[in-house]
Amino acid sequence: MPAPVQLPRIPGGEISGEILSVGSAVANWKIGDRVAVQSNLFCGRCEFCLRGQESICLRGKLLGVQEDGGFAEQVGVPATSLVRLPANLDFAASAGRTLAGSTAMHMLTQRASVKPGDWVLAMGGTSGVGSVAIQIAKQLGAHVISTGSTEEKRAFARGLGADHVVDTTKKDWAADVREITGKRGVDLIVEHIGGDVLLQCFNCLARGGTIVTCGATAGREVQLKLWPLFVKEQKLVGSYGRSRADIQAVLEWAAAGKIKAATTEIFSLEKTAEAFAALRGRRVMGKVIVQPN
Ligand SMILES: [Zn+2]
Repeated sequence: MPAPVQLPRIPGGEISGEILSVGSAVANWKIGDRVAVQSNLFCGRCEFCLRGQESICLRGKLLGVQEDGGFAEQVGVPATSLVRLPANLDFAASAGRTLAGSTAMHMLTQRASVKPGDWVLAMGGTSGVGSVAIQIAKQLGAHVISTGSTEEKRAFARGLGADHVVDTTKKDWAADVREITGKRGVDLIVEHIGGDVLLQCFNCLARGGTIVTCGATAGREVQLKLWPLFVKEQKLVGSYGRSRADIQAVLEWAAAGKIKAATTEIFSLEKTAEAFAALRGRRVMGKVIVQPN
């Protein structure tokens, strides 16, 4: 995070569970309701909140970063941040989609759009955002290309519905994307890696195409080539978090069987550190769940 995190802090922003108690001013929720939590905490009063753009609230905070989050048996959250779980979706299935899944939903349906027949490149097919982006793009009728650094990861992405998966360990993987699209390039790229990966994305973006990006783990500063950007009328669009509507949409799609679970492992709360070790070791494909008893 660019801002320092005040310690001690309980992390965990991708939460679902059951309501144990409600404040006296809460009218719409009752004890026992099954909910997911919008982790982009928002004020509900600023110019952007009033337009429904919760994720860019002027007083926005991140649950698990600036407020204590979900690696716990209980967590206190504002009632305004709750989203009702569909009846046939369990907590693990919800928690595995609430944050990364809704991020992908926000990127593909709010910050950009997909038409049937479009070419979409979803970066990192085994990542939280990438794995759901593949499925949303397929549901919207796109031809989907994804990426993976091992054959196992590429097979995982194909299993989620990707029509083609390119090997990002090849230096010029963008050439493979151009080749697949008959030299045309893709209409939309769902990017969350940043650095040189973002620059490579421009090498396989079609004229009039859009890159929507929500992450920069591989580098926050890049040198853009402005000439091809405007000559080809391309767009680079930022996307941050989600609104409750995006969470509701991704959970409803999941309940309807349109988005598969990508959960690979469930750890008990006491083994949270092991869950992180599995993520850091890059052994994980899809989502890891921490489940209190
Ligand atoms: Zn606000």
